[in-house]
Amino acid sequence: MLVAAAMVLAFCVVAVNLARIMLVNGEEYKNKAEQNQLQDKELKPTRGVIYDKNGTVLAQSASAWKIYVNASSIPDNEKVRDFIADKLSSVLEDVDYETVREKTDESKSSYVVIKNRVEYDEKEAVVSVLDDKVTYTAVKKDDEGNTVSTSDKTFKLRLAVGIDDDVIRYYPYGSLASCVIGFTGSDGEGKGGIEAFYDDVLKGKPGRLITAKNGRSETMSNEYETVYAAENGAGLVLTIDTTIQRYLEEALEEVYVSSQGAGAYGIVMDVNTGAILGMANVPSYDLNNPYALTEDQKKEVELLEDENEQNEAKRGFYYKNWRNFLVSDTYEPGSVFKIVTTSAALESGTLDESYSYSCYGSIAVADQVIKCHNHSGHGYQQLREGLMNSCNPFFITVGQRLGQETFFKYFEAFGFTEKTGIDLPGEATPVAGSTYHPLDDMSIVDLSSSAFGQSFQLSAIQITTAISAIANGGYLLTPYVVEKTVDSNGNVLTEKQPVIKRQVISKETSQTVTSMMEDVVTKGTGKNAYVAGYHLAGKTGTSEKLSLGKGHYVASFGCFAPAYDPKIAVLIIVDEPVGYINGGQICTPIAAKVVENSLTYMNVEPQYTPEERAELDTPMQNYAGTDLRSAVADLEESGYTVETVGNGDRVTSQMPPYGVIIPKNGYVVLYTETDAEKITTEVPDFSGYSVYDVQAVARSVGLNATVSYNSSTNKNELVSYSQSIAAGTQVSKGTAVKVYFKTNSGVADFG
Ligand SMILES: [Zn+2]
Repeated sequence: MLVAAAMVLAFCVVAVNLARIMLVNGEEYKNKAEQNQLQDKELKPTRGVIYDKNGTVLAQSASAWKIYVNASSIPDNEKVRDFIADKLSSVLEDVDYETVREKTDESKSSYVVIKNRVEYDEKEAVVSVLDDKVTYTAVKKDDEGNTVSTSDKTFKLRLAVGIDDDVIRYYPYGSLASCVIGFTGSDGEGKGGIEAFYDDVLKGKPGRLITAKNGRSETMSNEYETVYAAENGAGLVLTIDTTIQRYLEEALEEVYVSSQGAGAYGIVMDVNTGAILGMANVPSYDLNNPYALTEDQKKEVELLEDENEQNEAKRGFYYKNWRNFLVSDTYEPGSVFKIVTTSAALESGTLDESYSYSCYGSIAVADQVIKCHNHSGHGYQQLREGLMNSCNPFFITVGQRLGQETFFKYFEAFGFTEKTGIDLPGEATPVAGSTYHPLDDMSIVDLSSSAFGQSFQLSAIQITTAISAIANGGYLLTPYVVEKTVDSNGNVLTEKQPVIKRQVISKETSQTVTSMMEDVVTKGTGKNAYVAGYHLAGKTGTSEKLSLGKGHYVASFGCFAPAYDPKIAVLIIVDEPVGYINGGQICTPIAAKVVENSLTYMNVEPQYTPEERAELDTPMQNYAGTDLRSAVADLEESGYTVETVGNGDRVTSQMPPYGVIIPKNGYVVLYTETDAEKITTEVPDFSGYSVYDVQAVARSVGLNATVSYNSSTNKNELVSYSQSIAAGTQVSKGTAVKVYFKTNSGVADFG
């Protein structure tokens, strides 16, 4: 009986415990068991590739690894921690001993990243040391800190160092189009540019791999495995054309250096679609190394003593380098805006081309006197000359004729009170009363200064979109940088259709304003933008940043070409130039180069005027294989200077080669022996010469100077300022060097 009673009692205890485990804590134990048996691993999707317009890869992801330490599993022992720091810093590039050593002390953390985005070779180097070990003396202490016992132990690196999957984002062209592309942070998330704007499209959806494990932590057979495949991100095809982008960046780099400005910025837009073909900020940054500072920035940081101040300064520079001025910043457009005032005046019927006003150098508005940049006055002008001369008093009277209501109607129609909606992050938001004068609070002074582009601010992308509208027959478009999304096989998923917001002026007004803008470039303040055959239509601008006090300027030039069938609009801006500050002095030649290079690349045939054709350089004919004496006679008769090399009597080769375009009075070298070495000459510094002198100097050293200048400008005003091959370069005699000219007379719209 006693035994039976004891057994019943014991059974009851067991039953109560069982009930507690099953009924009360059952869920909890079940979950714990499942967590132990199932391993859930995230499968990372591959981020989409970014291509330029022609399929050139601009951004691509590749597999990589991250190295971490499980600091919580590191024995509390100095020798072991030193060992880990020593091993990892010796196999990982750019990882120093001190940094790893500090991380080994984060003893509560099981996942401390030592290095992200580790490539294959470096990862293998880590693998090769994982079995390296160190022996140490483990000390056991009691609660009071007294040593209880000591024992010798071995620590293998593998016990605390782990390797995980990671991804590297490569940007094969470094800084090219950095303001458009943006980059990804260490978490793989897009920062800036389309990497941020299209992050959801690019990143894809992660998958899961769920594997069952048995009691010994071994993976069980496949039937216990479930795979939810990752969905890779879509690729993006940009509207950016790498070639045009490069032309733009090279030109901006040139003016950034020569103007000593704080920055040079530019946009190339397809006027018929709103597609951005090129967009660049100079200085820029390397997408593969976005946290690198420029030399000047580094020096500024080093001057600071306090570490917090240094970090603050660094952060400031990062944001400055990454910021896309063209979309996120606003500035006073200055005289470039006069093309909008002109469009409004003609379209509304307020006045016509015959409207005239005589400028005497200044004009009174309310209680103020506003000066013209030409202090002695432009005299009698009609609308066309007013625009060509960029006369402020003239446009003040045009603005006053328009009146607040009509002026504001067109200001709004051209899109200046709203964002353009470009698919890039951080577009500046226009704010009534802050960035522009709202209709219900626009004084006569506000109206008058707005009419010539001062006292309000626009973004560069807004202005370029407005210029495109004037060029394309009046249609305000939504600018965009992504043309298509594609899958990993290149199949098109979505394709962007151009979006017309509204027609803001008629085709007729568009053509009239275009013709006036062409005159600005042929004969007015834009004459340094002239390109033979390409009929640029443009407008210069120079504004003072009044918020910063006197002496801070923004120079700009907006244009499109060809005037008879517009294809591209170009806006060039130089922030805070030193010395020459006018858009007509520094931005026009840069825009001309971008337009000429881009249209030539786009196979747009130039249309020359008879005068241009007469001065045109001609392609070199082929003389190889012909009789030397007759070749020399033929060339000399056409005005060329000829030099012969060798003792043969037949021409074996020539410099310049067949088809190269050189001046009509150029320099030709004929070789008569097949193994003759090419004779060379040094390219002189052509800057600061007249057209005549450049050609004479070129001939004297055996070179061909092809000159680029506005043929309707007085040649005495033209001075060379840039050349296609750097001074000091050794080249074959007969090489063609392009030399660019400009004038500083009659091109100011400020001063
Ligand atoms: Zn004037």
